[in-house]
Amino acid sequence: LRIGVLGGTFDPIHYGHLRMAEEAREQLSLDRVIFVPNRVSPFKVGLSATPWDVRAEMARQAIAGDSRFSVSMLELNRPGPSYSVDTLRALRAEEPAAEWYFLTGADAVRDLAGWREPEALLEMATLVAFGRPGVTLRDIDAALPERLRSRVVFRTMPLLDISATDLRGRVAAGKSIRFLTPPAVERIICECGLYRNDEAGAAVNTLEKLSSA
Ligand code: ATP
Ligand code: MG
Repeated sequence: LRIGVLGGTFDPIHYGHLRMAEEAREQLSLDRVIFVPNRVSPFKVGLSATPWDVRAEMARQAIAGDSRFSVSMLELNRPGPSYSVDTLRALRAEEPAAEWYFLTGADAVRDLAGWREPEALLEMATLVAFGRPGVTLRDIDAALPERLRSRVVFRTMPLLDISATDLRGRVAAGKSIRFLTPPAVERIICECGLYRNDEAGAAVNTLEKLSSA
């Protein structure tokens, strides 16, 4: 069993994440890809503080219909900040015989030296980094000590210059995000009033609103 893990804030999930997961599934012959919405402190997310359950629901709907993809609840109730290494430990305990692949974009892997216990993570999973516009291999070489750099596997994908930050900015500016994220995600953003900096947005960004709609 070969399993990929893709952690992220997913605020919101978009085609950059989804295509990366699909490339990983195909290129690495993964049986499953698990999306893990991270717990983040409202301070870290800055202006947008989308509740965990809403971020997870967007991810769930984005992958709906593909049983090889799933969304993990692992970080939902864990107190404090969540570290990838802890997440991986917990996932591995559930499926000890599997081969694990930890998937990241180039920007995330560039910061690997600052992660909690990067060596332990590299022991537990193959770290696979996919290209992302704005970050070159040279940037990564400059940022990572050789002992870490040499253990990262680099893969290519059609580069998608899509970020959640950009999507949030578009929504706040009243602009379209169509074709940057699946229609189901767009619908949740609209119905929950996410990322809008007006009162209407602030009043409705809960899942309860979504289910009663
Ligand atoms: P934000 O702008 O809020 O940081 P993001 O678009 O970077 O959001 P994250 O949830 O931070 O999304 O990313 C989760 C993981 O997905 C990270 O490893 C990141 O590098 C990767 N990723 C995100 N967008 C892309 C993309 N367009 N291409 C490749 N990898 C991506
Ligand atoms: Mg990011």
